[in-house]
Amino acid sequence: MDEIFLSSNRKRLSLRRGKDRVVANRHPWIFAGAIGSESGPPDAAIGDLVDGDGRRLASGFYSPHSDIRLRVLTFAEEELTAEVITSRLAASIARRRALLSDSNDAVRLVNAEGDDLSGLVIDLYNDVAVVEISNAGLEQIKPAVIDVLRQELRPRQIYFNNDLPARRVEKLSTDPEGIGEGTPATTIVENGLRFEVDPAAGQKTGFFLDQRENRQLARTLASGKRVLNLFSYTGAFGVYAAAGGATHVENVDGSQVAIEQARRNHDINQSSNITTFTIADAFAHVRKLDAEKQRFGLVVCDPPAFAKRRVEVDRAARGYKDVNLYAMRLLEPRATMLTFSCSGHMSLDLFQKVIFAAALDADRRISILRRLTAAPDHPVSIYCPEGEYLKGFLLEVRE
Ligand code: SAH
Repeated sequence: MDEIFLSSNRKRLSLRRGKDRVVANRHPWIFAGAIGSESGPPDAAIGDLVDGDGRRLASGFYSPHSDIRLRVLTFAEEELTAEVITSRLAASIARRRALLSDSNDAVRLVNAEGDDLSGLVIDLYNDVAVVEISNAGLEQIKPAVIDVLRQELRPRQIYFNNDLPARRVEKLSTDPEGIGEGTPATTIVENGLRFEVDPAAGQKTGFFLDQRENRQLARTLASGKRVLNLFSYTGAFGVYAAAGGATHVENVDGSQVAIEQARRNHDINQSSNITTFTIADAFAHVRKLDAEKQRFGLVVCDPPAFAKRRVEVDRAARGYKDVNLYAMRLLEPRATMLTFSCSGHMSLDLFQKVIFAAALDADRRISILRRLTAAPDHPVSIYCPEGEYLKGFLLEVRE
């Protein structure tokens, strides 16, 4: 692997005149538009960005197809070697050790830019590590990723979830790959509750670890309440609510596979008896519940990213407003609601405006008790604010 770091095997990219700001701000993404000329092997894994005098400004993973031509790992005089990458990987894992215990064995080990490893995400689910590599340069150091994971954690299986839009752009294989024994399906413990996770069948890497702390919050709010869990996926918020003493939980999701998994998760946590499982479009279902005059003491609303691209933000805002408006109508007096947006393109500011518009049209008096974000195993680089996608509010109805 060391040979990909040799200078003869690196791409040399010259920064366009007038583009110095992209480096000064230490943003790890260098777009094709900032690059003047390129030289070196076309399949280079590593690229060096140089100024007009040939001085190195930055080094990182090179990509010939993505608009993000270089994912910067080191700036200025800091030399990029294999050791830099493997020690960052080991350091990311070390930072998570304190989060792992008998009651928590699932954690995000590497959160891309937030761990100074642009393009790499690794989630640990008990004995299975799920890896997402979204960049051509990084793909070439895959053996190093495997080595570090084996040394540090000895997972039963390392599963590469390759079904990523970014890999299509990069012209990399999208077939999954499992290394080790058995299948990637496993059972995790999170805050003492158990969940089956199947990375091969599930969404993203299989489970939404970013919501761990918000689920714990839901647990503390659920006692004695009827709880509605919209966009439930595999029922995680619902299982927490039941564990927190909810009298009834309704999980709603459009995916039959997700709802079946939600049922099994409630089964293994002994809470299916108070839970209903609804396969439905959440937008239609909140209207139906309202028409039936059903009311809830806690509503969780955690939809998928409605805005995957910036041009979709307006349409996404209308979607968030619609489902939140109807969800608010379902709240009992003094009820609480946890509402989220995981669209990177929707700012916290805009999301708050959407919630304001929904409350106005729902004719409810709503206050924000807390702003919510992702759990701390999802760090965000101050230089790459795009990494902060999850935002939410804990709301309370006042009348
Ligand atoms: N809250 C979940 C994660 C939600 S992911 C957790 O903590 O694990 C978003 C979910 O929304 C997915 O399961 C997807 O199937 C579902 N979904 C997407 N569009 C939907 C729609 N219109 N109606 C109902 N569910 C939908």
